[in-house]
This record gives sequence, C-alpha cells and structure tokens, in this order.
Amino acid sequence: MLQTDTYRHKGMRRLLVEELRSRGLFSEEVLDTFQRVPRHFFLDKAFEEWAYQDKPFPIGHEQTISQPYTVALMTQHLAVKKREKVLEIGTGSGFQAAILASLGGRIYTIERVRALYLSSKSLLREMKFSNIQSFYKDGYLGLPEFAPFDKIIVTAGAPEVPPLLPKQLSIGGIMLVPTGVEVQRLLKIVRTGENSWETEDLGEAKFVPFLAGTRPG
Ligand code: SAH
Repeated sequence: MLQTDTYRHKGMRRLLVEELRSRGLFSEEVLDTFQRVPRHFFLDKAFEEWAYQDKPFPIGHEQTISQPYTVALMTQHLAVKKREKVLEIGTGSGFQAAILASLGGRIYTIERVRALYLSSKSLLREMKFSNIQSFYKDGYLGLPEFAPFDKIIVTAGAPEVPPLLPKQLSIGGIMLVPTGVEVQRLLKIVRTGENSWETEDLGEAKFVPFLAGTRPG
C-alpha cells in the first residue's frame, strides 16, 4: 500500500526544492517534478525523515537511491521533452524513473537486481505511472529491441562507456553516463550523426558500481 503524502511532506519537499535551487539548479520544470514526486514513497517508511535531505540513502541489496541534487542535475542535462523515449540503466528505487516520467517521457528502465526490479515496478504501478516499462536485465547491452532512444541515462558508475549504448541513441540524442572506478566523471555524449558522437565532461560524480549480469536474490 502507498504511504500517505501530507502537507508536512509537501513542506519538506518545498525546502528541498529551495536547497536545489540555491545549489544552482535552474530548470523550473525539473524543480517542479521534485515538488510533485513524493520521494519518501521510495524509502522504507521508517526513514521518511531522511527522504527530503539532499543525501543518497541505502535501499538494500548494497544499493542506494541517488542524492536529489545528482538526480536533478542529470535530469536537467537530459532535458526530456513530452513523448520522448528514454532508457534508464539502474532502476534502483524507481525515483529517477518517476522524475523522468513526470516530465512526460516514455521511460524504459532496466535493473539487474531482481528484488529491486520487483519492488520498484510494483511501487511505480501503484503510483499510476503508465509511461514506465520495467525490465529485469543486464543493462550493459541496453535495449536494442526498443532503440533508438532520444535520451539514455546510466545511474551506476561503469569503468568505461558500455559500447553498445551510444549506438542506441537517435541522432541528436543525449546520453549521460558516470565512468570510472572509485570516483567517476559524469560524461554527456551527444550523437551528432550516423557514426559520430561528441563527449563533454560534466565533472566529478560518485555512484554505486555498474555490475555485469543479473542477480536473482
Ligand atoms: N536510479 C536509481 C539509482 C539506483 S543505484 C534511483 O533513482 O534510485 C544504481 C542501480 O543500478 C542499482 O540498483 C544497481 O543494482 C543497478 N545496476 C548496476 N549495474 C547494472 C546493470 N549492468 N544493469 C542494470 N542495472 C544495474
């Protein structure tokens, strides 16, 4: 069953949005999704006080829900428009997928840990997100059967860019991927033509590792 969303939660979200704004996030559209999506639904009820702090938080299975600032920054760079096809690798709690879906994107999200795939899928369904499709797979290969995507977002740190993913972008499409082992650089890759891509380094980032294969437990 869904948790309740009270005026108190809405107030805490307003403070979080102001904090994100003061840290330099400027997209009103993105900030508005942070006001609308109840982040505490994505954490265990016992931790709801933590949901509106600008911090990552454990969600079990050695994974974390990303820090709101990181989610907001990546979403701002991705600039999702209504009806765009978006691939997310690393569903985790489902929060980033919910933010992207609130912008009107058609979201395809992949998770390699079965328990997280199942819990995020049922939460997103309960929250009535009809524009999110969840997949239990190794995201290393992307989702060629649904390509091309207007946007691709990887929310785990890969040692290098998974080679098949940039080819699943549409021309003009944007991909965000943190690369590196302990600490990563967040890369923005734009597909400029059939066989050309441009890469921009957006700075340091810290994500849980991108791992191969699926995990049934
Ligand atoms: N976007 C998530 C962040 C979760 S952390 C959120 O909003 O909560 C990153 C997630 O990526 C973890 O759940 C991890 O299991 C998953 N992951 C890591 N490597 C993966 C891979 N190869 N394919 C799919 N998911 C992967």
